[in-house]
Amino acid sequence: MQFCCNSVRAQLDRYTVRSYKLNMERRNTKQKQGVIDVLKHNEIALSADEVLEKLDLKMNRVTVYRILERFEQEGIAHRVVGLEGKNYYALCSDCDAEHHHDRHAHFQCRECKSLRCVDVEVIRPKLDNVKVEECRVLLTGLCEACSN
Ligand SMILES: [Zn+2]
Ligand SMILES: [Zn+2]
Repeated sequence: MQFCCNSVRAQLDRYTVRSYKLNMERRNTKQKQGVIDVLKHNEIALSADEVLEKLDLKMNRVTVYRILERFEQEGIAHRVVGLEGKNYYALCSDCDAEHHHDRHAHFQCRECKSLRCVDVEVIRPKLDNVKVEECRVLLTGLCEACSN
């Protein structure tokens, strides 16, 4: 009898763990979708804090940071280092985990700090003796709104 109860308990535990995992997965998917929606509906690249501000879902800062980092690894979004070393994220158009080809420039306004992708191809130079892996071009100046 004892054995029987234990095995039922074990089965129940397994079931609980599984439904917990399922719930977590569902929650994660919802959170990821929320972040994608925010990035999708904004023309400019956003910092983690800006994403957090615009989210409809309640999420903590760490979760948003983690999701954005994951997106970068998976080729869903690309990270741009802006002025003062701040990170911004924008959705990738045709990247995946193996091929992150965001070979375009970015523009950041020095006044309002808004940062956007610019449809200008950046050509990675070939140099002797070194392996160039990345070429970041950040154009800075005044955006349309701030120059008026
Ligand atoms: Zn501006
Ligand atoms: Zn970009």
